[in-house]
Formats: sequence, structure tokens, C-alpha cells
Amino acid sequence: MTLLERLKEAAGETQVKVQEPMKHHCTFQTGGPADYFVEVSSWRVLFTVLALLKEEGVPVTVLGKGSNVLVKEGGIRGAVVTLGEGFRQVRRDGNCLVVGAGAALSQMALAAMEASLLGVAFAGGIPGTFGGAVVMNAGAYGGELKDVLKEVTVLDQKLQVQTLPASALDLGYRHSNIIEKGYLVLEGVLELEEGDKEAIRAQMKDYAARRREKQPLEYASAGSTFKRPEGHFAGALIEQCGLKGYQVGGGAVSTKHAGFVVNLGQAKSDDLLAVIAHVQSVVLEQTGVALECEVKIIGED
Ligand SMILES: Cc1cc2nc3c(=O)[nH]c(=O)nc-3n(C[C@H](O)[C@H](O)[C@H](O)COP(=O)(O)OP(=O)(O)OC[C@H]3O[C@@H](n4cnc5c(N)ncnc54)[C@H](O)[C@@H]3O)c2cc1C
Repeated sequence: MTLLERLKEAAGETQVKVQEPMKHHCTFQTGGPADYFVEVSSWRVLFTVLALLKEEGVPVTVLGKGSNVLVKEGGIRGAVVTLGEGFRQVRRDGNCLVVGAGAALSQMALAAMEASLLGVAFAGGIPGTFGGAVVMNAGAYGGELKDVLKEVTVLDQKLQVQTLPASALDLGYRHSNIIEKGYLVLEGVLELEEGDKEAIRAQMKDYAARRREKQPLEYASAGSTFKRPEGHFAGALIEQCGLKGYQVGGGAVSTKHAGFVVNLGQAKSDDLLAVIAHVQSVVLEQTGVALECEVKIIGED
């Protein structure tokens, strides 16, 4: 049997695609094809698929909602694996929430609110999965996942399941050690506090309104393009350098929020990369501050 036939046998006929354009799977809506794109519906299917890819020496990239990646135009060699149905559960256990890596952060925040549990309202408007948020230590409005994450269950490079305390993940500002360790996040446990449901609801509404007011949500993007440099705000530095609206092809610095590089509609990844490189070079030259990308640039030229 060919690799494709074996993948389809393991994951299901419709769950495996070849030469799949990554622009369909990333919020930037750009990026070339992945050799294989596999959505796995359960832990069992995931283990089988990963064992098969390992046996065949095929590199694996795990993707959540693609809301913090920029895939280059050459696409991704090997297989992109994304977590489907069986990874989307959110379950209450006392004051804890057990969250599957494929669950949307909005779903997680709503479940916490419904259970009157405080601590993750900040995540309600972040358009990623729980798995991607653990990798990024996602945060907003003064909260971050690190504040509430108790433990995480991962699959290591030997395809062994390990449950690790959050303290083992080296969580920091938009950072964890998950990628360097080669872990795949399966699920995690959040330790929350009891609160008032209506107060949480009001807080989430307020955060959502603030996002709509400040962020260019009408355009495709990956959120804040750059990390916040020590002692500064990336958006303010970019604006100060006169780069608001700077455009290459269909890529531009948002005129609404200079910290966002956006796809105006027909951008190629190369346009976005050119905007990012120009911004970094001008900001460094004019202010002496080196802007580091928060967005993960992946794939081939
Ligand atoms: C409009 C907008 C607003 C945003 N606002 C915020 C914000 O306020 N705060 C914030 O922190 N971020 C924000 N983001 C960025 C992004 O949503 C977060 O970083 C989010 O946590 C990424 O999740 P994801 O599932 O999309 O991850 P992806 O982009 O799919 O992946 C991110 C990285 O994690 C890896 N990965 C994904 N899932 C797994 C897994 N299960 N196991 C191992 N590795 C995995 C990927 O390989 C990749 O390296 C915003 C993005 C957009 C588009």
C-alpha cells in the first residue's frame, strides 16, 4: 500500500488530503500546499497516523486553527496533522476544567463562564485552539494561560503519553518549550476559581467590544505580528516610524492598529514577509528596537 492509502485507512478516506493549500487553514489566508493534510478524529487515530508517519520518515507539523502562523509560498513538506472531533471536549472537574487540545478558546472560555469559573475570560476572543494557546502561552488583557494552567498531557517524540506540571513547560511571555521538546499537546487541566457568572459574562462582553474597537478584525491576520519589546509597544513604535498603512502587494500594516500586519484580500505570503522585514528594519534603524515576530513563520520558500 502507498503512504496515502495507509493514511486514509488509518484516518478515514475524507480526512486525508494531498497538496492541500495551507491558505485554507491559516487565518492569514495565505501559504502554499502541504504534501499531506490529515485531520485525526481521536487519540487512537492520532497514535496510528503518527506511528505510520514516523515509520516512513515523514516530518510532521501540528496545526491548531493556524491563527499564529505564516506559511511560506512553497508550502510544507511532509504532513500537517490537525486535531478533530475527539480533541474538542471541555469537561468540568470541581474547580478545574479539562480541555482538549483541539477545543476552541472561545468554547473553553464560554464553558468556564457557564460553570461560573473565573480565570479564562481573557481567552474568549482569541481565535485559536487550546493546544496552540499552550504552545504560545496565549494571553490578553492582563491574563495568560500560565496563570491558570495546572498540567498538560503531551505525546513526546517517542510517541509516549506524558502528563507534565505546567512548571515543566518553561512558560513565559508568548513562549513555552513545547516546540523545542517536540511535544504534541493532547489536553490540559486549568485550575480556576469560583466566581459570579454574570460578572464573567460582562467581562467577556467588554473584552470583545475592546477587540472590535481596536483590532482590524475585518481583515485576515494572525493577530499581533510582533512580540511586545521590553519597555515598549510594537504598534506604537511602528506608528511612530510612519509605517501605518505601509503596503507590499496585498500585505499591509493595518491603518487601525499598527501592530497587526494584515492581508488586504489577495496577499501572498511573500507580501506579508516583505512587510514584516521592512517594518523590522525601519523600526530598528529609527528607534534601535529589534522587533521579534510573535507569528511563527513556517514552510518552504
Ligand atoms: C484576530 C486575532 C487576534 C489574536 N489575539 C490574540 C491575543 O489576544 N493573545 C494571544 O496570545 N494571541 C492572539 N492571537 C494569536 C493566536 O490566536 C494565538 O497564539 C493562539 O493561541 C494560536 O492557536 P492556534 O490553535 O491557532 O495555533 P496555530 O497557529 O495553529 O499554531 C501555533 C503554534 O503551535 C503549534 N501547535 C498548535 N497546536 C499544537 C498542539 N496541539 N501540540 C503541539 N503544537 C501545537 C503549531 O505547530 C505552531 O507552532 C490572535 C490571532 C488573531 C488572528
